[in-house]
Amino acid sequence: MNYRRLGRSGLKVSEISLGSWLTFGKSVCEQKATDIIHQAYEVGINFFDSANVYERGQAEIVMSRALKTFPRESYVMTTKAFWPMGDGPNDRGLSRKHIMDQVHSSLKRMELDYVDIFYCHRYDVETPLEETLRAIDDLIRQGKILYVGVSEWTAAQIQEAFTIADRYLLDRIIVNQPQYNLFHRDIEEEILPMCERIGVSQVVWSPLAQGVLTGKYRRGEIPKGSRAYQSGESSWMKKVINDIFNRKIDLLDDIAKEYDITLAQLALAWILRQPNVASTLVGASEPSQIIENAQASNVVLNFETLQKIEEITAI
Ligand code: NDP
Repeated sequence: MNYRRLGRSGLKVSEISLGSWLTFGKSVCEQKATDIIHQAYEVGINFFDSANVYERGQAEIVMSRALKTFPRESYVMTTKAFWPMGDGPNDRGLSRKHIMDQVHSSLKRMELDYVDIFYCHRYDVETPLEETLRAIDDLIRQGKILYVGVSEWTAAQIQEAFTIADRYLLDRIIVNQPQYNLFHRDIEEEILPMCERIGVSQVVWSPLAQGVLTGKYRRGEIPKGSRAYQSGESSWMKKVINDIFNRKIDLLDDIAKEYDITLAQLALAWILRQPNVASTLVGASEPSQIIENAQASNVVLNFETLQKIEEITAI
């Protein structure tokens, strides 16, 4: 496993990290979740992602319980806040009140003294940015949060928050968590160049497009137990499967075969070609998936291959 520095901080995270959305506390039982998390740690993953809203705190509980086996200093644990956690007017957003309440609740659930990274899960148009950043800065000074990140903010929002934090506070935003994969490349236009310039790293979610980029759904097959199977008719994976999609997957798979790697490993290595991406944040429903995904950290795709992939994605 290789490690990269997050933004301009001193923190190093594994190129492959493990998330808990839709799996831990939900589709994967606790024993298997523990096996997956332990497997991840064994292959060198030191970066674990959660959020208050994932199964209303259950994902945080399962993840932190499994990680208790390991020394606290050896792993990086994250959480997030923004989405509603109750019906009250202050049970959502990025107000000082909600952030303080949610960070304390997350720490209590996880039985931790501090969380390494706290993410603003979305931008809150109703709360002044200064209020949000001051609240986070206070939590950093209290030692309850070590670093700060944002998720799915626009380039302008990240730039503004970075400037305020840089001018008035001790700590900067060091990480952005956007969606990024072979089929979803929005961040390339504005966010990547801007973040590269100011020194904010990306930790990207759904790097395998929720499993689509493993090839398991090609030609409309929906394996029993897979995420698309469990999501039923609402599954977006089913909606993207068409002839063009199948052709792209086949061509990408041919490239993977040339490298003697799997399609999932190709998809992750393609993301890691970006120096501004510090980590690809995968999910897993089996320990074997984590072993396979972690090996992508050692795959380097050459220039000709990257050109070929560009042509395929443009079909
Ligand atoms: P992925 O794109 O990695 O999809 C994960 C799913 O794909 C797994 O649960 C598994 O599903 C399947 N899979 C993974 N590896 C393999 C493999 N090698 N072979 C076969 N199938 C595989 O990521 P997620 O969509 O799960 O997102 C990852 C994390 O990102 C989340 O856990 C969360 O922490 C974070 N996230 C953040 C968001 C944000 O707004 N900031 C939004 C969404 C996610 P199965 O086996 O069940 O088919």
